[in-house]
Amino acid sequence: MRGEVVLEEERASGGEKAKEPPTKGKKRKKFHIDIFPAWCKRCGICVAFCPEEVLAQDEAGYPYAKNPEACIGCMWCELRCPDFAITVLSEDIEKEDKMPGDN
Ligand code: SF4
Ligand code: SF4
Repeated sequence: MRGEVVLEEERASGGEKAKEPPTKGKKRKKFHIDIFPAWCKRCGICVAFCPEEVLAQDEAGYPYAKNPEACIGCMWCELRCPDFAITVLSEDIEKEDKMPGDN
């Protein structure tokens, strides 16, 4: 016993470290932030709690997704909104990354 953790894939491959699987076609989550202005009181709580700085307030104070690609779907904005005015929706999308050798 060498006193170290050996991954199951490592063991199966005779001690070789498992290689990264190809990413083509792999699903990842994309999130959409839906804001219902009629219920929003422009308090800015959702903006303040977003850990990824996805949200910002427009000139009128309403939140909007300034940087939607950075959203990790943590739901903090939705959970902290006192007026249920913001919803986080998720959808699976295909990765667009091309593999080496693709045209
Ligand atoms: S789900 Fe999380 S990361 Fe996405 S906008 Fe809301 S607080 Fe920010
Ligand atoms: S927390 Fe809710 S009410 Fe406050 S700005 Fe965000 S969406 Fe509007």
